[in-house]
Amino acid sequence: MRILIVEDDELTAKALTMVLEDQNYAVEVASDGQAGWDLVQAFEYDLIMLDVMLPKLDGISLCQKLRSAESSSASLSHNFKIPILLLTGRDSSHDKAIGLDAGADDYVVKPFDCEEIVARVRALLRRGNSTSLPVLEWGNLRFDPSSLEVRYETRTVELTPKEYALLELFLRNPQRVFSCSAILDRIWSFDKTPTEEAVRTQIKGLRQKLKAAGAAADFIETVYGIGYRLKPHKDVASFSSPGEQIQQQTLTALGGVWNRFQGKISQQVSVLEQAATHALQDALSQELHAQAEQQAHTLAGSLGTFGFSEGSQLARKIEHLLQAGQSVGKKQGKHLRKLVLELRQQIEQSPKVLVSATQTNQDERFDTNAEAVVMVVDDDPQILATLQTLLEPWGLEVITLNDPRHFWETLEACSPDLLILDIMMPHLSGVELCQVVRNDPRTCGLPILFLTAHTDAASVNQVFAVGADDFVSKPIVGPELVTRIINRLERIKLLRSLAEIDQLTTVFNRYRATQDLNKFLHLSGRHNQPLCLAILDLDNFKLINNAFGHATGDAVLRQFGQLLRQSFRFEDVVARWGGEEFVVGMYGMTKSDGVSRLEEVLKTLYEQEFLSPECTKFRITFSAGVAQYPEDGTNLQSLYQVADAALYQAKAAGRNCVLPAASAPKSESSVTKH
Ligand code: GH3
Ligand code: MG
Ligand code: MG
Repeated sequence: MRILIVEDDELTAKALTMVLEDQNYAVEVASDGQAGWDLVQAFEYDLIMLDVMLPKLDGISLCQKLRSAESSSASLSHNFKIPILLLTGRDSSHDKAIGLDAGADDYVVKPFDCEEIVARVRALLRRGNSTSLPVLEWGNLRFDPSSLEVRYETRTVELTPKEYALLELFLRNPQRVFSCSAILDRIWSFDKTPTEEAVRTQIKGLRQKLKAAGAAADFIETVYGIGYRLKPHKDVASFSSPGEQIQQQTLTALGGVWNRFQGKISQQVSVLEQAATHALQDALSQELHAQAEQQAHTLAGSLGTFGFSEGSQLARKIEHLLQAGQSVGKKQGKHLRKLVLELRQQIEQSPKVLVSATQTNQDERFDTNAEAVVMVVDDDPQILATLQTLLEPWGLEVITLNDPRHFWETLEACSPDLLILDIMMPHLSGVELCQVVRNDPRTCGLPILFLTAHTDAASVNQVFAVGADDFVSKPIVGPELVTRIINRLERIKLLRSLAEIDQLTTVFNRYRATQDLNKFLHLSGRHNQPLCLAILDLDNFKLINNAFGHATGDAVLRQFGQLLRQSFRFEDVVARWGGEEFVVGMYGMTKSDGVSRLEEVLKTLYEQEFLSPECTKFRITFSAGVAQYPEDGTNLQSLYQVADAALYQAKAAGRNCVLPAASAPKSESSVTKH
């Protein structure tokens, strides 16, 4: 559960944060109304605490703004009414009335009592989520949100706040698979930006504790290549494998699509009926003939998706019968009529795959922070709707396009992570689109998956020849498609991480660090937080290469990278900028904080003994320059220059020292010698 506190008084904000974090809520703070508004637009919260008197935008106005945006469902990342709790300093019933009028759900008068705050927060969250049971259970596990108690059979399980939140996430979405990044989005406050490794560590810790209490080691199981979920227990053994789970979600989702397109399918069959009638009278016009062939082709692709495999085969037969160039007279008309009649009977039955064509449940629709953007180009709107319905529950943002002539502008506007193309389309074929994508340096690396009813060897060879990465044939078998797409996206992620990590030192490279640092600078600006940027350069490194060889130099760099990774918080940016130069970015830290951290690292480094191949012992040192946002610069480049100038001074001052930018080197204390 994520809570946003909009409060300009730092002390109150801190106190509230502590109280709420103690109850395992993820808390973020905005110090003025405008910052609060920015955050609500970008992230999803379960509750907002709002001070009335705020700089830039007051609490009442913010509350009104939120409610009116919610009712017009514009510009917000959520589509429900977020509970709002007003924090008011004034104990006048008039103010309260204004607040409640503006759309707040409840208010507390400052100074407040911690227990009261917690009770009200809980009440509001319950109200907003009235369907959720107060106690969550899974097999022999009991999770009581009101007492914060977790029990397995008779044993109490003591959890850290993160483990608790993880378990709650799984219990509240018992059939869902969560990828590492989906977990990060939900459980970590965004300004903590941990790595996926942190998620794996927490899962491991949680599993160990549950196991110690008697649960199975895979109570939370790994779904290979996708993420984690609760292992189904015997009582709810309806979904036993990830594949089946995907299938179940898929089928449920398809129910909605079928309902929307039933009418259209019936019309398509009518066209075939008309064609058959005309053919029987030996009066099938060229136009109707062509139209019927087109409809038969589309039906062959779409019907199978809904489990009408016989219907799909019938449509395919009709398509062949109508294949261009063949004349359809009375004789063929009879055959056609028979096939069309059978087809009509088929589609009048309810779709076979839809065991229970229920509405997609709200929890499964989820995600505002899409994990990847998938663009689909197909002239059949039904295929587009199907893909959207299939893929969105997996956190993928699906951009659809049914006219390939608008391909380029759509591609540029949404910059997808994966492209899905149909082969046969009017105006431009998928093969042609694939060729242009592959021939443009901006898009040549984009993964492309073909989706098509043509499965003959020639078509398959052709799409691979123009650079397709994968091929899925219509009718779409939902689970197979979802699995293929998710696997492909996981591979892209892996490749991306290879492109972002320096292979020698295994810290991030400059490319990745630049992105992270810019993100943190943006946050610093928004939240009024300092950011400390340091450049570190090994001293006389050339001499080490010269004396002991480059392999030893490489080993030193590797060890230095390791030392840096161990020395900083996981949210710090640690990167090899190039050669023997490294960069460290520390969000929320000042220049003097940064200088003392680096001095400690320098001391630790100096204590390490290195060994050359000839067993000569040697030690190394570095020099560093440190700059601070926003005092020394307001963008990465200016901060880098200022830090670099300080580094230059540190070298000139005799190396083996850390200097803050500009103000240095005035005092002795800012220079450390070993
Ligand atoms: P200073 O204290 O002034 O920084 O002296 P320095 O010798 O460290 O600086 P200089 O910039 O003159 O030399 C840097 C050296 O680092 C030169 C280059 O060959 C070496 N170097 C850069 N990248 C690598 C690498 O990946 N492996 C090895 N072994 N050496 C590298
Ligand atoms: Mg150097
Ligand atoms: Mg250098």
